[in-house]
Amino acid sequence: MSRPRAERTLLKDHWVVDPASRRAGVATVEVHSGKIARLEWRDGIVEARRTFIEGAEPGQKDPTKMILPALVDLHAHFRQPGAGASEDVASGEAAAAHGGYGAVALMPNSEPAADHPALLRELVRSDSPLGLTLMPIAAATLGRAGVALSPMGELAAAGAVAFSDDGSPIADLSLFRNALISAGALGLPLIEHCEDPALTAGGEAADGFVATSLGLKPWPAVGEISAVVRNIALLREALRDEPRARLHLTHLSTATALDAVRAARAEGLPITCDVTPHHIALTDAWIAGDRRWAWEFGDRRPAELNPSADAYDTNLRVCPPLRNAADAAACRAALRDGTASAIATDHAPHSREKKEVEFGLAANGIAGIETALSVALAAHAAGELPLSLLVAALTTGPAAVLGRPELARGLTVGGAANLLVVDRAANWTVNRATLVGRSANTPLLGRKLPGTVLLTLINGEVAWQATMSS
Ligand SMILES: [Zn+2]
Repeated sequence: MSRPRAERTLLKDHWVVDPASRRAGVATVEVHSGKIARLEWRDGIVEARRTFIEGAEPGQKDPTKMILPALVDLHAHFRQPGAGASEDVASGEAAAAHGGYGAVALMPNSEPAADHPALLRELVRSDSPLGLTLMPIAAATLGRAGVALSPMGELAAAGAVAFSDDGSPIADLSLFRNALISAGALGLPLIEHCEDPALTAGGEAADGFVATSLGLKPWPAVGEISAVVRNIALLREALRDEPRARLHLTHLSTATALDAVRAARAEGLPITCDVTPHHIALTDAWIAGDRRWAWEFGDRRPAELNPSADAYDTNLRVCPPLRNAADAAACRAALRDGTASAIATDHAPHSREKKEVEFGLAANGIAGIETALSVALAAHAAGELPLSLLVAALTTGPAAVLGRPELARGLTVGGAANLLVVDRAANWTVNRATLVGRSANTPLLGRKLPGTVLLTLINGEVAWQATMSS
């Protein structure tokens, strides 16, 4: 295995954002022997300040090439074991490196589910590792079947960073409560996909104007909201028995569910949540062929839909479904006020066979780990997300959810060179040739996105370099 080692890399006068030290500004970074040998801020070291989020935006004349700490993903599916035709750890890792990621937590929705230490290890085993930190999330219940808890102690000892039955919400109330208590006793969070299948079974698109117009079966918002409210009540209950219980709600998509989390956090409950790039930037109107970003709608719904030739793209089928512009705006607002502490990709690669079918028969999921940063940068360019905040939501935010700040130590002299270089002014077109992952099931195919990742270094070694793609 020989990959180019950046023996000595000089990155002169880049815009640097480092949420760990709460610094942003123009700096020169030098990498030597896998470590950051020099970090020189042009105007001296910018003071760590409370106004980091608001006061650290690059100006017109600042460099467009940026250095960011390598990104951290809370939620990805690399389909190993079980579905190598869609992705495996090696291809997923390469895709992640292209996306600028240095650490990825992998969901246990493998086949079979990762409910046993040997399967947990398989979830992150790679034949050609690029050096990314891959973290297994263990199934909360045996087979993700929601009947009996998995051997959580053994799974924690085998390296699980969290427990989740992602995709299969735990329906049984006492089992959910026990999962919170057992995970909490091990110092690990329970990550829940909030959905009440009694309300969402067969749902194809968000309930509302678009689903009605297109004749798609509705997946009602209340299917998410009721699960969130229930889970918050059970967390409150579990804390009486286990004060270390922690709940993380993944890929929330509705304004009301986010309001419930906001209130729970204000109450002091140990609850966090994330939102996905597609829920902050896309709407269900995309299913009708409308390709405007969510923020280009304002808060108005489209007056009428004229389904175009692009309609019913099965790459838009995802769970929870894409929603209207107001819900997407609520997802961005949740990031801005800290209700959501992370952008998680929910990278869900699927082979063509699972997507080249009727809309309602298509597998749920979007392959998004290579486009997440660019989508976030598109939101930034539109004035929707401050740059420092979006970088935090892709680094320190997810690391904190996992209780592992070491994943996002940032850029420090003498520290490991885990970083990426991205040109926010450069565009790239998403297509089969530019994507590195094994599956290209993304509705962004053919779309020009801002933010080309030029280089990803992991421990100073090149995990991705733009020229490698041509
Ligand atoms: Zn899920």
